[in-house]
Amino acid sequence: MANLLENSFCVVIHGGSFVYLVGQERVTLLEESLTRIIRSIHQYVTSNLSNPEFSSVDVVEYAVKLLEDDPLYNAGKGSVFTSEQTHVLEASIMDGSNLQIGAVSQLEHYKNPISVARVILEQSHHNYLVGKYAENFVENFMEKYHLEQVENNYFSTERRLEQLNVQREEQIIANLEALEGMKKGTVGCVVMLRGQVAAGTSTGGMTGKNPGRIGDSPIIGAGTYANNQTAALSLTGTGEEIMRYLGSGDIISRMKYGQQTLTQAVEGLLFTTMPPDTAGVIGVTIQGDYTMRYNSKGMLRAMCSSKDMNHAIIGIYEEEQPVSLV
Ligand code: ASP
Repeated sequence: MANLLENSFCVVIHGGSFVYLVGQERVTLLEESLTRIIRSIHQYVTSNLSNPEFSSVDVVEYAVKLLEDDPLYNAGKGSVFTSEQTHVLEASIMDGSNLQIGAVSQLEHYKNPISVARVILEQSHHNYLVGKYAENFVENFMEKYHLEQVENNYFSTERRLEQLNVQREEQIIANLEALEGMKKGTVGCVVMLRGQVAAGTSTGGMTGKNPGRIGDSPIIGAGTYANNQTAALSLTGTGEEIMRYLGSGDIISRMKYGQQTLTQAVEGLLFTTMPPDTAGVIGVTIQGDYTMRYNSKGMLRAMCSSKDMNHAIIGIYEEEQPVSLV
């Protein structure tokens, strides 16, 4: 029994919340992708459980990298375009066991922003670096962290270019209300492994954004937070709104000072505080209680845990379905 508890885990991922209904063809692609990714994560976690060094931060990095490498999601490959037709990426990662933080914005040449954030978490005494300073700092750790540099157009896909062009035609770039409806998305992961939690979030931001814009995803207390005392959280949605309502920080406060459960706290933020169609949240506690909630039309999401070694769960709209892991 003791051994079972020692090897307990719960991993939750999201691939962004959305306010537009997604067509059936795309739903099928996304379901296949979520299934493939959650299976890989489960395989990765179970095959590393015997390693005492294996950590919740390892799992967050592994999971977010898979999402970043899949062009379906707005993070890493497949990131949206800025108003200057470039890609400017950002990410953050937090270790709930020691409150170490790594955050990064304005990245243009690293294939996996979450790994850059992890280097900052482990190697810098600063929490948050931006642009060329972040890129230069992590250059010293390329091999140790298996970092890969790419040309900025590595992140480009036809679909994202179409979205930029549609938006340009409609000339709505400067209008915040219109920004709300634009193509965005983000990826994130929260993990409980042997009673330790961690969280990470990575994004290309919002289509047509000012290249200097920073969203909620790299901001600790907005898009990401992790603390063993409360929960690990990753948010998705309109960054401007998530920052306005303090996102993950608000959920943590509800839990810490209001004695709310994770689900009560997340629902409080999403359904009583924030406007509709603005955000989605995944969260997990050290007990392995988890939540995947959103106040938009849907949120791409999946989870697996040591409580059911045969099935994971995936969801896009309200309905969640089990997928086999064996
Ligand atoms: N939160 C992200 C941002 O504002 C976008 C998203 O999650 O859809 O950059």
